Amino acid sequence: MKAIVSLNSGSSSIKFSLFAIDETGGLQLSAGGKIEKIGISPAVEARSVDGETLLEREWANGAALSHADLLADLFAWAAEHPLQGREIVAVGHRVVHGGTQFAAPRLVDFELVDTLEALCPLAPLHQPHNLAAIRAIAQLAPELPQVACFDTAFHHDKPDLAARFALPRSLHDEGVRRYGFHGLSYEYIALRLAEIDPVLASGRVIAAHLGNGASLCAMAAGRSVDTTMGFTALDGLMMGTRSGSLDPGVVLHLQTQMGMSPADIEDLLYRKSGLLGVSGISSDMRTLTASMAPEAEEALALFAWRVGREAGALASSLGGVDGIVFTAGIGENDADMRSRICRRLEWLGLEINEIANACDGPLISMPDSRPRVYVIPTDEERMIALHTLNIIKGQAA
Ligand code: ADP
Repeated sequence: MKAIVSLNSGSSSIKFSLFAIDETGGLQLSAGGKIEKIGISPAVEARSVDGETLLEREWANGAALSHADLLADLFAWAAEHPLQGREIVAVGHRVVHGGTQFAAPRLVDFELVDTLEALCPLAPLHQPHNLAAIRAIAQLAPELPQVACFDTAFHHDKPDLAARFALPRSLHDEGVRRYGFHGLSYEYIALRLAEIDPVLASGRVIAAHLGNGASLCAMAAGRSVDTTMGFTALDGLMMGTRSGSLDPGVVLHLQTQMGMSPADIEDLLYRKSGLLGVSGISSDMRTLTASMAPEAEEALALFAWRVGREAGALASSLGGVDGIVFTAGIGENDADMRSRICRRLEWLGLEINEIANACDGPLISMPDSRPRVYVIPTDEERMIALHTLNIIKGQAA
């Protein structure tokens, strides 16, 4: 049976999923796993869809192992193990930035990789690792088709106003504009919502992807019309370690008055701010929720406040809100944070059902609540596999 691999390659981890293509052309998840702690002491684990451990390995002294080394090891393992008779026919990748050019997934070739390389400064935490995985697979299996699926693509056709900064036109024309990210997640949520609540899916919805990275997307009839992340994935909400939107004057002050270098400022805004910076304790929501420190509580309160504030802005972009969807690590699992955010949005006519919320939904609003509120688990890996399958089918046709 043929199968597709989805890869989501981050700075210190690579998530992978294997989807079998069934007789009807549908995708069935057969296995998945993660390589974690890359650069420290890498560990890999893979499990079948039934939870059976297929692979477990750690490299205690493997700090020098690169993404490419670890992928080579995974491929070597996959070649020796029959993967229950599955033949890998393509690999799909999450690629964070597709710039102005790419509104849809693309088959990878050398030219594409060069074009995407030029976008690395716009997504320094993600893009280099996405491309490293593509290059590694091209070396390991040059004949295997690879597909790049862009996180920016879902937002590509949003209204021009939502893409503009109030900067001189020439900068916009040179690409200094609001792109938006988490597009694979929002695209999946739009698909799932159309199955779960088709009437709502055709209306005005704010989707909240709240994980280590966090953003909101305003969707009208399943299409992005505005989003909180902009030129880079730094904009908008407060995140695990990222600041979210900031008065640009702060950056000037850090540079001119405090003598910080561009590299120091990048490190501060991407890696030392957000929940970690405000709490001084951790970037992880579970750690903060368990902490009794007032700084942890302040970080949680600010997180909810910022989501409420940005949701208010997107409600204006949409001209009203019919529904809200929570997704990703925090959105799917943290009932207390959902409750805090929903209480901030009561002015929209929202009334949370705390009993349903405590059970993670899927519907967590009261019957009379005007925006209906759902919890819907995202699945970026499946979205990548769906796109990859479509592209290779198009190639074969
Ligand atoms: P990433 O952006 O790395 O994919 P995730 O979507 O996995 O991030 O989200 C990670 C965040 O979700 C962390 O802050 C983590 O604490 C939080 N999280 C995961 N599970 C829970 C849970 N059960 N309760 C509260 N927060 C959770």
